[in-house]
Amino acid sequence: MQSSTYYRTHHCGELRMSDIGKTVSLTGWVNKNRDQGGMIFIDLRDRYGITQLVFNMDTNAPLCEEARKLGREYVILATGTVAERSNKNQNIPTGEIEIIVTNLSVLNAAELPPFTMDDETDGGEELRMKYRYLDLRRPQMQKRLMLRAQMLKAVRTYLDAEGFVEIETPNLIKSTPEGARDFLVPSRLQPGLFYALPQSPQILKQLLMVSGMDRYYQIAKCFRDEDLRGDRQPEFTQIDCEMSFVRQEDVWNMFEGMTKYVFKQTKNIDLPDFLRLPYKEAIQYYGSDKPDLRFDCKIIDLNDVVGGTEFSVFNNIITSNGLIAGINAKGCSEYSRKQIDELTEFVKAPHRGVGGLIYIKFNQDGTIKSSVDKFYSVEQLTAIGNKLNAQKGDLILIIADKVNKTRKVLGELRLEMAKRENWIDKNAWSVFWVVDMPLFEPDENTGEPIFAHHPFCSPHPDDFQYMDTEPLRVRAQSYDLVMNGNEILSGSIRVHDKTLQEKIFTILGFSEAEKEKRFGFMVNAFKYGAPPHGGCAFGFDRWVMLMAGGDTIRDVIPFPKNNNGRDMMMDAPGDVDNEQLKIVGVKLL
Ligand code: ASP
Repeated sequence: MQSSTYYRTHHCGELRMSDIGKTVSLTGWVNKNRDQGGMIFIDLRDRYGITQLVFNMDTNAPLCEEARKLGREYVILATGTVAERSNKNQNIPTGEIEIIVTNLSVLNAAELPPFTMDDETDGGEELRMKYRYLDLRRPQMQKRLMLRAQMLKAVRTYLDAEGFVEIETPNLIKSTPEGARDFLVPSRLQPGLFYALPQSPQILKQLLMVSGMDRYYQIAKCFRDEDLRGDRQPEFTQIDCEMSFVRQEDVWNMFEGMTKYVFKQTKNIDLPDFLRLPYKEAIQYYGSDKPDLRFDCKIIDLNDVVGGTEFSVFNNIITSNGLIAGINAKGCSEYSRKQIDELTEFVKAPHRGVGGLIYIKFNQDGTIKSSVDKFYSVEQLTAIGNKLNAQKGDLILIIADKVNKTRKVLGELRLEMAKRENWIDKNAWSVFWVVDMPLFEPDENTGEPIFAHHPFCSPHPDDFQYMDTEPLRVRAQSYDLVMNGNEILSGSIRVHDKTLQEKIFTILGFSEAEKEKRFGFMVNAFKYGAPPHGGCAFGFDRWVMLMAGGDTIRDVIPFPKNNNGRDMMMDAPGDVDNEQLKIVGVKLL
């Protein structure tokens, strides 16, 4: 082989029929080694694709012997001639050619890997996390990381064209109130004192508006020390944005535009204009502030049509101002006893905790069958069915409980039915705004107002009047972007007036001393000419996950933590020795 400064002339996804006859050098990993006696075929893999290498006993027996020894994941350099394949593989772009190898070097041998590097790998998640660097060799994972990068590129291109400036903010800061626990970092130089890692750059980006930067963004790492229920990570990425002199409309238009641009650039999809769904309607019709609207199935209130019988369950709920509501599971009237029992168990599960599920079947033959036949005449059941637009073949499912619980559980039942009945078109996209979110929500235990998003959201101007008397009634100028049933952005118009900001802190129960200690620098900044401003942050990992078709955000984060917050590969968090603790002035309990 000619000595060359370069290892390779081409990568493994590059060569085609037009290259036949060329002498080329390829590098990569041995994906498969097929020994057919007289011939050896090796699939050589790199990030760009797979190319077949051929070794022939008749023409070069010693080289063939060497090739025979190559194990999976050996790193090799192969030089040879591009030839047309007799047995073409239409499934891969390089499938019409192969390389007749004349020279082979092993750049590095490899131990047998603990799982296969294919999309359909035989490795379970634990193992793949431990050997994440091998997991990331799988083409699917590489595609996901590349999509992630393409999306970021599109984001930067769009925001740059719109005059946004990318500005970095520090990670060693003071607590930021996003409602989670802070990760703390001890200070060596000031023993006994701690930095907090940012839950988001919220306060800093607002201060950049006070600085007059006008349009800011940052691909920001955020840190939240919370229980990792659901699909969360202790550190995750936001596309964090802020704009001055804007109203809600401006922010919506800007980031609707950005979302559409990213879809177009990375998936060639033209999204239609986004619906703006008031929070109240989202809860009323779908029982969730992030409903999946890829299918319909609204929750319909039934209090006005179910009363006036002997059925005490409903009567009690009506008199105690509860809610009876239902959904129409279209085409499910043939559900068996067992299936209905499963749905009943679903709604009665301890974390949902409603008492039961009532059904009405509108059978194909025109008869009606229900679990409350005893109490309701056919006319009454028909009237309930009419409210839900029931046709022959439909199954009505009804829950009666406290208002919020009825809606929440029906929202979950709606999703469960969609899953069971395959109502969701996997290729469909549903992206829309949820607007007019509440400013406060009641604390689960005390009922006292706590902030629904964070304490810097501006109240809706029409609701100022309730600030003192009924704070829980006040809407915020805040909004979420929902994608296929996931919240991928939240944001708000901010308070920029010092007095109003202080008032909100007071409603939230911060004492004067706490206010000063936690937010003094911010309120102080507002004395010096803070412009009206607002913005938002995208939960970037979740957005990528949806675009990449992953199941969890771990699928699109190169080195994620597991559900216990552990990095399985590095084995972090880990212990530190006493000396290190001493230096940072920390003593373990
Ligand atoms: N900082 C907020 C969050 O992390 C987003 C925003 O209001 O811009 O949810």
